[in-house]
Amino acid sequence: MNDSSLVANAADFRAQLIDWYDQSARDLPWRSHPSLYKTVVSEFMLQQTQVKTVLPYFHNWLQVFPGFEALASASEEAVVKQWEGLGYYSRARNLHKLARIVSDLDSIPTDAKSWLALPGIGPYAAAAVCSIAFSDPSAVVDGNVVRILSRLVADRSEYKTTTDAAKTYQSLATALLNHARPGDHNQAMMELGATLCQKQKPQCLLCPVQSLCQARAQGIETAIPRFNKTKAVKQTVERAWIVSPKGVLLYRIPQTASRMKGLHEIPSLEALNLKTPRTSPLIVRQRSITKYRITERFHEISADKAFNGDLPDHFLWANPDSIASLTFSGPHRKWITELIDLVSEK
Ligand code: SF4
Repeated sequence: MNDSSLVANAADFRAQLIDWYDQSARDLPWRSHPSLYKTVVSEFMLQQTQVKTVLPYFHNWLQVFPGFEALASASEEAVVKQWEGLGYYSRARNLHKLARIVSDLDSIPTDAKSWLALPGIGPYAAAAVCSIAFSDPSAVVDGNVVRILSRLVADRSEYKTTTDAAKTYQSLATALLNHARPGDHNQAMMELGATLCQKQKPQCLLCPVQSLCQARAQGIETAIPRFNKTKAVKQTVERAWIVSPKGVLLYRIPQTASRMKGLHEIPSLEALNLKTPRTSPLIVRQRSITKYRITERFHEISADKAFNGDLPDHFLWANPDSIASLTFSGPHRKWITELIDLVSEK
């Protein structure tokens, strides 16, 4: 990787980037009338999630939990319910813990190093929050920034993961940081990655730093950055759609589970100790979680075939009213609505 010419032109890079940002930045709700709380909430929500998905969640969140104190005094159940559908639920739990800690502090730390000690805060979030809220001179490096920087220097190296590449690019990002406006500089990098320097079709003709981009000059921008290919792992989950006069059978993920504890799902046949029926499933749906490509098959099963007597632990019957108030993992709420409509049409 040859980054010396880019560092030599750092002043031009900063100026071109910030001018473009001042003219072109999208009007996002955490940017207008900014506050530490809005910055923190938006950074948690935006991890692994696109802006357009986050917008309605951010709006509703601010209505229900308008500040750290309101969030700190809410129950974990209410916080996770508000997060329903946004995925990666540990973010909601960590944000809740962080609000409780911050609410108890006499003075809130203003540097990225201190923020790293708070729940759910890694190097990226610490730099983003502290540069935006406190003008701390910390450079953010995430997938977007890796993509921009690796293209600017035409880096053909192959990386294992984005985290590995981010470590490599931290020093270059720091060397390029605009110390007069670190928060805006970081947001400009994120904005450039999200709107112009995109993965598939970078819009180089509109790019403010095109003249400094070595990958563009060599015509190899879409081939960079390079990552080891992770092999997709296929999985099939067989699920039971069981309805009785008491409602739909659901499974509540135990509190001892490492992921998605307390959330509800349509139960798997495995959890019920049932064999896969020979009949065709009611519906089949696909989804992807990280490297997993999962086929979900939903079988209609009669309640008396599933149980002899009481419900096993962690299972419950949910009527339509209680379904509305429960919190579901992944797309289960959507599937439940689909299955209720499908079965009622039969
Ligand atoms: S010129 Fe193209 S590839 Fe280079 S930084 Fe700009 S958008 Fe990305």
